[in-house]
Amino acid sequence: MEKIKMITPLVEMDGDEMTRILWKMIKDELLSPFIDLKCEYYDLSLQNREATKDKVTYDAAYANKKYGVGVKCATITPNKQRVEEYNLTEMWKSPNGTIRNILNGTVFRAPIMTDFIIPSVRSWKKSITIARHAYGDVYKATEFRVPGKGVAKLVFEGENGESFCETICDYDGAGVLQGQFNKDSSIKDFAHACFKFALDTKQDLWFSTKDTISKQYDQTFKLIFEEIYNEFYKEAFEAAGIEYFYTLIDDAVARVIRSEGGFIWALKNYDGDVMSDMVSTAFGSLAMMTSVLVSPDGCFEYEAAHGTVTRHYYRYLKGEEPTANPMALIYAWTGALRKRGELDGIAELVSFADKLEAACMTTLSSGIMTKDLVNLTPDGFEAKAVKTSEFFSAIRENLEKTL
Ligand code: NAP
Ligand code: MG
Repeated sequence: MEKIKMITPLVEMDGDEMTRILWKMIKDELLSPFIDLKCEYYDLSLQNREATKDKVTYDAAYANKKYGVGVKCATITPNKQRVEEYNLTEMWKSPNGTIRNILNGTVFRAPIMTDFIIPSVRSWKKSITIARHAYGDVYKATEFRVPGKGVAKLVFEGENGESFCETICDYDGAGVLQGQFNKDSSIKDFAHACFKFALDTKQDLWFSTKDTISKQYDQTFKLIFEEIYNEFYKEAFEAAGIEYFYTLIDDAVARVIRSEGGFIWALKNYDGDVMSDMVSTAFGSLAMMTSVLVSPDGCFEYEAAHGTVTRHYYRYLKGEEPTANPMALIYAWTGALRKRGELDGIAELVSFADKLEAACMTTLSSGIMTKDLVNLTPDGFEAKAVKTSEFFSAIRENLEKTL
């Protein structure tokens, strides 16, 4: 078989630990034999971020902006322990945070659904897509350890002379302090992305914040969504028979658990971070959650929602064979290749992505799966836990039958 040719390079961002191992396996086993891969490669491993003083992350993000489509492996966001482990000169910022801020996009996360993985929440029948605002708030906050007694103030100095200054806290001892921000322009882009995605996928859109407590900050999010909905999307939503629905975050959490699924749940940056892990775990496994960052100017960055699967990596280093689940990482590649194919008019590439996903599904439905999924299958379903390498072989066999 002749390999599929690509036109525009795909921006490839390699990562860390277990997912870096899986990344190579995906390319070697499932992609390179069939596609003449044209990638612009960026090594976002923590070692290379350290060596380049994090320049590589910025270069990768700008390349994603230039070419339109990127695919990213999971990367370590260093904390204190990682600084020691990797002997870092600085606690480099989250690469995802950096990329999101450069692309100013919205992250949509949806579970890979199958008939034989039963969600922990019994009422869930359809997928729930989490739309996470991927800009600002706590991810771009300025924070301090307050050493002791003193006053913290919030100050704004407007270009046209308007200003305000208010005491945040009169400290009677040590404590902590944080300043967060967001911008109307970014919230508007977020709202547009959510409404468009809802129309595209014909699903209701829910949005929730804590506007009763945060009467300026969260309230602004609520009002902007309302305005944009009424001005641009109300008619189209009504025509499509879908609904926009705002509620308080606590109420939303309760309703989501009682729902059947089948909607998009838009959330602020931190809420989306946390809730996507809850939703993906309840749907089965973090390893079955896909993630795509969509920017207002039409750039896409595909990745898995999970991290670098550190515990598995340490076992791998001790000589254990990998047992991690590569599904979400494979879907990151199929998502990116399909999008690249659509944008460049390469039907073969689109079809390859479809076939690779179908081969994954055939493999799972034949009962061959990684350990994390076996316990999630219903009574009577015959499932066999295999090592990652056997899982890849089975997928490849099924893929080859369809090519
Ligand atoms: P994680 O890598 O998502 O792993 C958490 C646990 O979920 C694993 O220990 C494993 O459970 C299970 N799991 C996740 N993905 C799996 C897979 N593909 N196959 C099988 N099991 C899977 O999260 P973490 O341990 O909190 O974070 C590890 C590192 O990843 C951190 O350094 C963090 O900074 C980074 N991170 C990166 C991203 C990103 O780049 N997008 C996102 C989140 C975290 P068991 O051990 O019980 O099997
Ligand atoms: Mg998270």
